[in-house]
Amino acid sequence: MRKISIIGTGYVGLVSGAGISEFGHNVICADIDCEKIESLKNGEVQIHEPGLDELVKRNLDAKRLFFTADIDDAIRQSEIIFIAVGTPQAEDGQADLSAVETVSKAIGKNLNSYKIVSTKSTVPVGTGNLICEIISKIKTGQKNFDYVSNPEFLREGSAVKDFLWPDRVVIGSESKKAFDVMKDIYRPLYVNETPILHTNTQTAEMIKYASNAFLALKISYINEIANLCEEVGADIHQVSKGMGMDGRISSKFLHPGPGYGGSCFPKDTFAIAKLSEKKGVQLNTVEAAMKTNLYQKKRMVKKLEDLIGETFLNKTIAVLGLSFKPNTDDVRDSSSIIMIQSIIDQGGKVNAYDPVSNDKMQKYFPNINYFNSWSDACHEVDGVAIMTDWNEFRGMDIGELKLRVKNPVVLDTRNILSVEQLLLHGFKYSNVGRKLFENKKN
Ligand code: NAD
Repeated sequence: MRKISIIGTGYVGLVSGAGISEFGHNVICADIDCEKIESLKNGEVQIHEPGLDELVKRNLDAKRLFFTADIDDAIRQSEIIFIAVGTPQAEDGQADLSAVETVSKAIGKNLNSYKIVSTKSTVPVGTGNLICEIISKIKTGQKNFDYVSNPEFLREGSAVKDFLWPDRVVIGSESKKAFDVMKDIYRPLYVNETPILHTNTQTAEMIKYASNAFLALKISYINEIANLCEEVGADIHQVSKGMGMDGRISSKFLHPGPGYGGSCFPKDTFAIAKLSEKKGVQLNTVEAAMKTNLYQKKRMVKKLEDLIGETFLNKTIAVLGLSFKPNTDDVRDSSSIIMIQSIIDQGGKVNAYDPVSNDKMQKYFPNINYFNSWSDACHEVDGVAIMTDWNEFRGMDIGELKLRVKNPVVLDTRNILSVEQLLLHGFKYSNVGRKLFENKKN
């Protein structure tokens, strides 16, 4: 059993902390957000992530998982420290490393024994060196440390599963000792034969950015192909299916939609683009993905305007789905934000509904109307925009929807409604890349 602390108890820190304690280690999750820590001490998880409540409770009860706002103490007590604080986009597009730097200083100050410092936050290539410099400058005495880059690949919405059954674990370290300790932490994953890739720190940092940028690119690519499908009479679902059957391409991340969002792809594509600019290397494909993504979000607004036939002035639009994808309450950079903002800017009103994200979106838009069901949100509206593919929207009764709305207008940005049903009930509708097709087989 290892003594570990995770600094930063957000989506990644909490899932990783609970996951590593599930592996049998003693884990302290530390955060500067005292309110969050107090709730977690009582087993109250404030984010929506399937399976996380149970995982946290089980390990709290087993006395393997602890929460504290005393970051210095957590560091002093631990042999391994994972940095899992946020690295949001700074004004200039680069990753804001201020929280990482603050934690590095705290580690330097509290280096009371040999420790392994590992970064789970997504940080630009070269940050490992910066962290080591900060710690070395601040630490006093002979105590030493080793550094590991251990990027996290979990996806919100299936984070617990992704953490406990990952496709791979990347461990970037020049220290054999640190690599062996990290392998030991992840030992339970050997049962599933999870590949462990050992690289140097720069390579591990690059694998994370290169992976996210590639996935962003894949989404933007399929969105552009979907837009072209609309013009030429092809069905994007069948195109994706046909492409995905090719093992070189794979069917993952070939679903068209309103553009990617969330707390990772938008900021990570910006950060890698900034890094390449700084290094004088062209990254045209990633630049194109970013441009396409913004265009796609705006295209959704234009589609709804076209359906309504005029601007949103004095119109009420139901925006269904606020999180950037289903099974999470994370609304950061969600496509619904641009949609809501555009409706408001044009003088329209928004009736918003999400199964779990109403509260989070309230911080961005405190003055729109929030509802507790899609049915209530759609009462007497001039149009409906489906922004997130929550299962409950897939099962929506189109007949009931027709009875609720003032104008039968639907923009289905996730292609989850039956076109046949929409037509049957006289809806004016649009979707992404399959205007003329019924969703019979998919
Ligand atoms: P988050 O915003 O949910 O959580 C960050 C946490 O760090 C917050 O609880 C915040 O209070 C805390 N924090 C900030 N400054 C701190 C400090 N000085 N000391 C202690 N705690 C501090 O962020 P997240 O989504 O968990 O992302 C964390 C990192 O992991 C980011 O670099 C992100 O890019 C990366 N990542 C995120 C995901 C994801 O799906 N969310 C997946 C893989 C990697």
